[in-house]
Amino acid sequence: MLDIFTIGADILREKASPVETFDAAFAEFVARMFETMKLGRGIGLAATQVGVAKRFFVVKLEDDEPGRVFANPEILMTSPEESSYEEGCLSIPGAYAKLKRPSQIKVQAWNERGRPFTLEAADLLARVIQHENDHLNGVLFTDRLSERSRERVLSDYEKRLRI
Ligand SMILES: [Zn+2]
Repeated sequence: MLDIFTIGADILREKASPVETFDAAFAEFVARMFETMKLGRGIGLAATQVGVAKRFFVVKLEDDEPGRVFANPEILMTSPEESSYEEGCLSIPGAYAKLKRPSQIKVQAWNERGRPFTLEAADLLARVIQHENDHLNGVLFTDRLSERSRERVLSDYEKRLRI
């Protein structure tokens, strides 16, 4: 189980650097990230959230589907159509807000074995990829909210901390 850093931690504001080595240690770390994400009941987790400033994240929307690893991701295309969805983050537990994002994307990345792939994603998968990709650039979903919505979300989070 890895520690998940929460909002306020400097690592969450760092711009991560590329993954250069796809070795057994990397695959092992990725496996631990999937475990940590499952325990936290998340559907996406970026390396920066567990204290590693490297460009990779894991995504798993359902228990019965294989997880996906995105290393050195690049979003090649985003659709002009947007969709709105209640978004949350393991680094801001208990805080949720509706956020608009492009509803379809095309992304290129490398998997845990260092094999490149290109993926066209829509709906929730597209959203999670964009959310996790933001983490690699030090951006949190709250940064993309209106000021009013951001204040509400952060005060919800702080209230929850005091319980
Ligand atoms: Zn997040």
